Amino acid sequence: MKVAFIGLGTMGGSMALNAIKGGHELIVHDLRRDAARPHLDAGAQWADEPRAAAAAADVVLTSLPGPREAESVGESLLKGMRPGAAWFDLSTNSPTVVRRLHARFVERGLSMLDAPVSGGPHGAKSRKLALLVGGDRAVFDRFRPVLDSIGDQILYIGPIGAGSVAKLVHNCAGYMIQTALAEVFTLGVKAGVDPLELWAAVRQCSLGRIRTFDRLGRQFLQGSFEPPDFALQLAHKDVTLATELGRELGVPMRIANMTFAEMTEALNRGWGDRDSRVPMLLQEERAGVEIKVPAEAIKAVLERDG
Ligand code: NAD
Repeated sequence: MKVAFIGLGTMGGSMALNAIKGGHELIVHDLRRDAARPHLDAGAQWADEPRAAAAAADVVLTSLPGPREAESVGESLLKGMRPGAAWFDLSTNSPTVVRRLHARFVERGLSMLDAPVSGGPHGAKSRKLALLVGGDRAVFDRFRPVLDSIGDQILYIGPIGAGSVAKLVHNCAGYMIQTALAEVFTLGVKAGVDPLELWAAVRQCSLGRIRTFDRLGRQFLQGSFEPPDFALQLAHKDVTLATELGRELGVPMRIANMTFAEMTEALNRGWGDRDSRVPMLLQEERAGVEIKVPAEAIKAVLERDG
Protein backbone atom coordinates (compact mmCIF):
# COMPACT_ATOMS: atom_id res chain seq x y z
CA MET A 1 0.00 0.00 0.00
CA LYS A 2 1.22 3.52 -0.76
CA VAL A 3 1.36 5.52 2.48
CA ALA A 4 1.87 9.27 2.94
CA PHE A 5 3.41 10.01 6.36
CA ILE A 6 3.43 13.58 7.62
CA GLY A 7 5.17 14.60 10.87
CA LEU A 8 8.43 12.72 11.43
CA GLY A 9 9.17 13.75 15.04
CA THR A 10 9.87 11.61 18.10
CA MET A 11 6.85 9.36 17.49
CA GLY A 12 6.19 9.79 13.77
CA GLY A 13 9.83 9.26 12.76
CA SER A 14 9.91 5.74 14.26
CA MET A 15 6.36 4.83 13.18
CA ALA A 16 7.16 5.78 9.58
CA LEU A 17 10.32 3.63 9.63
CA ASN A 18 8.27 0.68 10.90
CA ALA A 19 5.74 1.21 8.10
CA ILE A 20 8.62 0.95 5.62
CA LYS A 21 9.87 -2.21 7.38
CA GLY A 22 6.31 -3.55 7.13
CA GLY A 23 6.64 -3.47 3.33
CA HIS A 24 4.72 -0.27 2.58
CA GLU A 25 5.85 2.29 0.06
CA LEU A 26 6.23 5.66 1.80
CA ILE A 27 6.08 9.27 0.72
CA VAL A 28 7.01 11.57 3.59
CA HIS A 29 6.78 15.21 4.60
CA ASP A 30 7.72 17.30 7.65
CA LEU A 31 8.35 21.01 8.18
CA ARG A 32 11.95 19.95 8.91
CA ARG A 33 13.36 18.19 5.87
CA ASP A 34 16.24 16.85 7.99
CA ALA A 35 13.79 14.68 9.92
CA ALA A 36 13.19 12.64 6.75
CA ARG A 37 16.80 11.60 6.19
CA PRO A 38 16.50 8.05 7.66
CA HIS A 39 13.31 7.48 5.68
CA LEU A 40 14.78 8.69 2.39
CA ASP A 41 17.81 6.45 3.06
CA ALA A 42 15.37 3.54 3.53
CA GLY A 43 13.76 4.22 0.15
CA ALA A 44 10.94 6.67 0.91
CA GLN A 45 10.11 9.56 -1.41
CA TRP A 46 9.97 13.19 -0.29
CA ALA A 47 7.03 15.58 -0.84
CA ASP A 48 7.30 19.36 -0.42
CA GLU A 49 3.84 19.71 1.11
CA PRO A 50 1.12 17.51 2.62
CA ARG A 51 -1.18 17.76 -0.43
CA ALA A 52 1.60 16.52 -2.73
CA ALA A 53 2.27 13.56 -0.42
CA ALA A 54 -1.46 12.78 -0.26
CA ALA A 55 -1.92 12.97 -4.05
CA ALA A 56 0.27 9.89 -4.46
CA ALA A 57 -1.12 7.82 -1.59
CA ASP A 58 -3.88 5.31 -0.72
CA VAL A 59 -3.72 6.31 2.93
CA VAL A 60 -2.33 9.31 4.82
CA LEU A 61 -0.91 9.09 8.37
CA THR A 62 -0.10 12.21 10.40
CA SER A 63 1.76 12.55 13.71
CA LEU A 64 1.61 16.24 14.56
CA PRO A 65 1.94 18.26 17.78
CA GLY A 66 -1.77 19.05 18.22
CA PRO A 67 -5.09 20.44 16.94
CA ARG A 68 -3.68 23.58 15.29
CA GLU A 69 -1.19 21.66 13.13
CA ALA A 70 -3.74 18.93 12.35
CA GLU A 71 -6.22 21.55 11.10
CA SER A 72 -3.67 23.24 8.86
CA VAL A 73 -2.33 19.95 7.46
CA GLY A 74 -5.97 18.80 7.05
CA GLU A 75 -6.70 21.79 4.78
CA SER A 76 -3.80 20.81 2.55
CA LEU A 77 -4.85 17.12 2.52
CA LEU A 78 -8.40 18.06 1.47
CA LYS A 79 -6.94 19.54 -1.71
CA GLY A 80 -4.66 16.59 -2.44
CA MET A 81 -6.25 13.29 -1.39
CA ARG A 82 -7.50 10.86 -4.04
CA PRO A 83 -11.13 9.68 -3.98
CA GLY A 84 -11.42 6.61 -1.75
CA ALA A 85 -8.30 7.53 0.23
CA ALA A 86 -8.32 7.78 4.03
CA TRP A 87 -6.56 9.93 6.60
CA PHE A 88 -5.67 8.47 10.01
CA ASP A 89 -4.53 11.16 12.46
CA LEU A 90 -2.14 9.55 14.95
CA SER A 91 -1.69 12.82 16.91
CA THR A 92 -3.22 13.39 20.32
CA ASN A 93 -5.94 15.73 19.15
CA SER A 94 -9.13 17.40 20.38
CA PRO A 95 -12.22 15.18 19.81
CA THR A 96 -14.15 18.29 18.75
CA VAL A 97 -11.55 19.29 16.16
CA VAL A 98 -11.35 15.71 14.91
CA ARG A 99 -15.15 15.55 14.47
CA ARG A 100 -15.18 18.90 12.65
CA LEU A 101 -12.42 17.77 10.28
CA HIS A 102 -14.21 14.45 9.74
CA ALA A 103 -17.41 16.27 8.67
CA ARG A 104 -15.49 18.32 6.08
CA PHE A 105 -13.77 15.22 4.69
CA VAL A 106 -17.05 13.29 4.46
CA GLU A 107 -18.56 16.21 2.44
CA ARG A 108 -15.80 15.64 -0.13
CA GLY A 109 -16.24 11.85 -0.16
CA LEU A 110 -13.02 11.25 1.83
CA SER A 111 -12.46 9.25 5.03
CA MET A 112 -10.92 10.59 8.20
CA LEU A 113 -10.27 8.58 11.37
CA ASP A 114 -8.66 9.50 14.68
CA ALA A 115 -6.02 7.03 15.82
CA PRO A 116 -3.98 8.45 18.71
CA VAL A 117 -1.19 6.22 19.94
CA SER A 118 0.11 5.19 23.35
CA GLY A 119 3.44 3.61 24.22
CA GLY A 120 5.94 6.48 24.13
CA PRO A 121 9.04 6.85 21.96
CA HIS A 122 10.29 3.37 22.94
CA GLY A 123 6.98 1.80 21.87
CA ALA A 124 6.99 3.75 18.61
CA LYS A 125 10.42 2.29 17.85
CA SER A 126 9.79 -1.29 19.03
CA ARG A 127 6.20 -1.41 17.61
CA LYS A 128 4.85 -2.06 21.14
CA LEU A 129 2.29 0.62 20.56
CA ALA A 130 -1.48 0.86 21.11
CA LEU A 131 -3.58 2.64 18.47
CA LEU A 132 -6.99 3.85 19.67
CA VAL A 133 -9.08 4.22 16.55
CA GLY A 134 -12.35 6.11 16.03
CA GLY A 135 -14.26 6.33 12.74
CA ASP A 136 -15.77 4.22 9.99
CA ARG A 137 -15.32 0.51 10.83
CA ALA A 138 -15.10 -0.61 7.18
CA VAL A 139 -12.31 1.90 6.47
CA PHE A 140 -10.53 0.77 9.65
CA ASP A 141 -10.70 -2.85 8.42
CA ARG A 142 -9.49 -1.91 4.92
CA PHE A 143 -6.34 -0.17 6.15
CA ARG A 144 -5.66 -2.49 9.08
CA PRO A 145 -2.43 -3.89 7.52
CA VAL A 146 -0.89 -0.40 7.57
CA LEU A 147 -1.92 0.12 11.20
CA ASP A 148 -0.51 -3.33 12.08
CA SER A 149 2.88 -2.26 10.72
CA ILE A 150 3.21 0.47 13.39
CA GLY A 151 1.48 -1.00 16.47
CA ASP A 152 0.81 -4.31 18.25
CA GLN A 153 -2.53 -3.31 19.89
CA ILE A 154 -4.86 -1.96 17.20
CA LEU A 155 -8.10 -1.16 18.99
CA TYR A 156 -11.30 -0.04 17.28
CA ILE A 157 -13.16 2.03 19.89
CA GLY A 158 -16.20 3.51 18.11
CA PRO A 159 -17.32 6.37 15.83
CA ILE A 160 -15.12 9.36 14.95
CA GLY A 161 -13.60 11.05 18.02
CA ALA A 162 -13.84 7.92 20.21
CA GLY A 163 -10.10 7.26 19.91
CA SER A 164 -9.23 10.80 21.03
CA VAL A 165 -11.66 10.61 23.96
CA ALA A 166 -10.10 7.32 25.11
CA LYS A 167 -6.61 8.76 24.74
CA LEU A 168 -7.47 11.86 26.82
CA VAL A 169 -9.08 9.69 29.52
CA HIS A 170 -5.92 7.59 29.65
CA ASN A 171 -3.42 10.45 29.70
CA CYS A 172 -5.36 12.56 32.18
CA ALA A 173 -5.67 9.53 34.49
CA GLY A 174 -1.91 9.04 34.27
CA TYR A 175 -1.14 12.59 35.35
CA MET A 176 -3.74 12.55 38.14
CA ILE A 177 -2.28 9.29 39.49
CA GLN A 178 1.23 10.73 39.17
CA THR A 179 0.17 13.77 41.26
CA ALA A 180 -1.39 11.52 43.90
CA LEU A 181 1.71 9.31 44.05
CA ALA A 182 3.97 12.34 44.55
CA GLU A 183 1.76 13.28 47.49
CA VAL A 184 1.84 9.92 49.27
CA PHE A 185 5.52 9.29 48.55
CA THR A 186 6.54 12.62 50.12
CA LEU A 187 4.39 11.61 53.11
CA GLY A 188 6.11 8.23 53.36
CA VAL A 189 9.62 9.62 53.07
CA LYS A 190 8.98 12.50 55.50
CA ALA A 191 7.57 9.89 57.92
CA GLY A 192 11.00 8.25 57.88
CA VAL A 193 10.82 5.40 55.34
CA ASP A 194 13.58 4.93 52.77
CA PRO A 195 12.15 5.76 49.29
CA LEU A 196 13.60 2.66 47.63
CA GLU A 197 12.26 0.35 50.36
CA LEU A 198 8.89 2.13 50.22
CA TRP A 199 8.67 1.65 46.46
CA ALA A 200 9.82 -1.97 46.71
CA ALA A 201 7.09 -2.58 49.31
CA VAL A 202 4.08 -0.90 47.70
CA ARG A 203 4.72 -2.45 44.30
CA GLN A 204 4.07 -5.83 45.97
CA CYS A 205 0.87 -4.67 47.74
CA SER A 206 -2.62 -5.02 46.28
CA LEU A 207 -2.51 -1.94 44.02
CA GLY A 208 1.03 -2.71 42.97
CA ARG A 209 0.11 -6.17 41.72
CA ILE A 210 -2.79 -5.29 39.46
CA ARG A 211 -2.96 -3.36 36.17
CA THR A 212 -4.33 0.09 37.03
CA PHE A 213 -7.48 0.01 34.88
CA ASP A 214 -8.31 -3.66 35.58
CA ARG A 215 -9.48 -2.56 39.04
CA LEU A 216 -12.44 -0.76 37.50
CA GLY A 217 -14.02 -3.99 36.26
CA ARG A 218 -15.07 -5.51 39.56
CA GLN A 219 -17.25 -2.79 41.12
CA PHE A 220 -17.31 0.56 39.29
CA LEU A 221 -18.03 -0.65 35.74
CA GLN A 222 -20.66 -3.10 36.97
CA GLY A 223 -22.23 -0.49 39.26
CA SER A 224 -22.13 -3.22 41.91
CA PHE A 225 -20.88 -2.41 45.40
CA GLU A 226 -22.29 -5.29 47.45
CA PRO A 227 -21.10 -7.46 49.02
CA PRO A 228 -18.00 -5.39 49.87
CA ASP A 229 -14.49 -6.65 49.09
CA PHE A 230 -13.39 -3.97 51.53
CA ALA A 231 -15.99 -1.88 53.34
CA LEU A 232 -16.09 1.89 52.95
CA GLN A 233 -15.99 2.47 56.71
CA LEU A 234 -12.66 0.61 56.97
CA ALA A 235 -11.22 2.45 53.96
CA HIS A 236 -12.38 5.75 55.50
CA LYS A 237 -10.42 4.88 58.65
CA ASP A 238 -7.25 4.28 56.58
CA VAL A 239 -7.51 7.61 54.76
CA THR A 240 -8.24 9.34 58.09
CA LEU A 241 -4.99 7.89 59.48
CA ALA A 242 -2.97 8.90 56.40
CA THR A 243 -4.27 12.48 56.32
CA GLU A 244 -3.69 12.78 60.11
CA LEU A 245 -0.08 11.70 59.55
CA GLY A 246 0.24 14.37 56.85
CA ARG A 247 -0.99 17.01 59.31
CA GLU A 248 1.39 15.79 62.04
CA LEU A 249 4.36 16.02 59.68
CA GLY A 250 3.39 19.18 57.80
CA VAL A 251 2.92 17.47 54.41
CA PRO A 252 0.33 19.21 52.19
CA MET A 253 -2.10 16.50 51.00
CA ARG A 254 -4.54 18.16 48.62
CA ILE A 255 -5.67 15.04 46.80
CA ALA A 256 -5.84 12.89 49.93
CA ASN A 257 -7.99 15.50 51.68
CA MET A 258 -10.33 15.71 48.68
CA THR A 259 -10.54 11.93 48.71
CA PHE A 260 -11.24 11.97 52.44
CA ALA A 261 -14.08 14.48 51.92
CA GLU A 262 -15.51 12.36 49.11
CA MET A 263 -15.43 9.23 51.29
CA THR A 264 -16.98 11.10 54.23
CA GLU A 265 -19.83 12.27 52.00
CA ALA A 266 -20.40 8.68 50.90
CA LEU A 267 -20.39 7.54 54.56
CA ASN A 268 -23.03 10.18 55.31
CA ARG A 269 -25.21 8.62 52.62
CA GLY A 270 -25.25 5.53 54.81
CA TRP A 271 -22.89 3.60 52.50
CA GLY A 272 -20.37 2.49 55.18
CA ASP A 273 -21.08 -1.22 54.69
CA ARG A 274 -20.87 -1.04 50.90
CA ASP A 275 -17.61 -1.57 49.03
CA SER A 276 -14.98 1.16 49.41
CA ARG A 277 -15.28 2.04 45.67
CA VAL A 278 -18.84 3.26 46.26
CA PRO A 279 -17.84 6.98 46.54
CA MET A 280 -17.35 6.75 42.75
CA LEU A 281 -21.16 6.91 42.52
CA LEU A 282 -21.04 10.50 43.81
CA GLN A 283 -19.07 11.53 40.72
CA GLU A 284 -21.54 9.67 38.47
CA GLU A 285 -24.32 11.74 40.05
CA ARG A 286 -22.44 15.02 39.52
CA ALA A 287 -21.53 14.12 35.96
CA GLY A 288 -25.05 12.99 35.13
CA VAL A 289 -24.04 9.56 33.86
CA GLU A 290 -24.85 6.05 34.96
CA ILE A 291 -22.37 3.26 34.28
CA LYS A 292 -23.56 -0.35 34.29
CA VAL A 293 -21.72 -2.93 32.22
CA PRO A 294 -22.72 -6.63 32.39
CA ALA A 295 -20.19 -8.81 34.21
CA GLU A 296 -19.88 -11.20 31.20
CA ALA A 297 -18.91 -8.32 28.87
CA ILE A 298 -16.16 -7.28 31.31
CA LYS A 299 -14.92 -10.86 31.51
CA ALA A 300 -14.80 -11.06 27.70
CA VAL A 301 -12.55 -7.97 27.50
CA LEU A 302 -10.19 -9.36 30.16
CA GLU A 303 -10.04 -12.69 28.32
CA ARG A 304 -9.00 -10.99 25.07
CA ASP A 305 -5.43 -10.72 26.47
CA GLY A 306 -5.31 -14.51 26.77
P1 NAD B 1 7.36 16.03 17.90
O1 NAD B 1 7.29 17.49 18.17
O2 NAD B 1 8.64 15.31 18.15
O3 NAD B 1 6.93 15.75 16.37
C1 NAD B 1 6.03 16.52 15.65
C2 NAD B 1 6.56 16.64 14.23
O4 NAD B 1 5.59 17.31 13.43
C3 NAD B 1 7.85 17.44 14.13
O5 NAD B 1 8.82 16.72 13.38
C4 NAD B 1 7.42 18.74 13.42
O6 NAD B 1 8.45 19.30 12.61
C5 NAD B 1 6.26 18.23 12.58
N1 NAD B 1 5.31 19.28 12.22
C6 NAD B 1 4.76 20.22 13.02
N2 NAD B 1 3.88 20.98 12.32
C7 NAD B 1 3.87 20.49 11.06
C8 NAD B 1 3.19 20.86 9.87
N3 NAD B 1 2.31 21.88 9.86
N4 NAD B 1 3.43 20.16 8.74
C9 NAD B 1 4.31 19.13 8.75
N5 NAD B 1 5.00 18.73 9.85
C10 NAD B 1 4.78 19.42 10.99
O7 NAD B 1 6.17 15.37 18.76
P2 NAD B 1 6.00 13.83 19.16
O8 NAD B 1 6.51 13.63 20.57
O9 NAD B 1 6.48 12.93 18.06
O10 NAD B 1 4.40 13.76 19.28
C11 NAD B 1 3.58 13.71 18.11
C12 NAD B 1 2.15 13.46 18.55
O11 NAD B 1 2.06 12.20 19.25
C13 NAD B 1 1.62 14.51 19.54
O12 NAD B 1 0.27 14.78 19.24
C14 NAD B 1 1.81 13.86 20.89
O13 NAD B 1 0.90 14.36 21.87
C15 NAD B 1 1.55 12.40 20.56
N6 NAD B 1 2.21 11.44 21.45
C16 NAD B 1 3.48 11.63 21.88
C17 NAD B 1 4.08 10.69 22.72
C18 NAD B 1 5.49 10.86 23.23
O14 NAD B 1 5.83 10.18 24.21
N7 NAD B 1 6.32 11.70 22.62
C19 NAD B 1 3.37 9.53 23.09
C20 NAD B 1 2.08 9.33 22.58
C21 NAD B 1 1.51 10.29 21.78
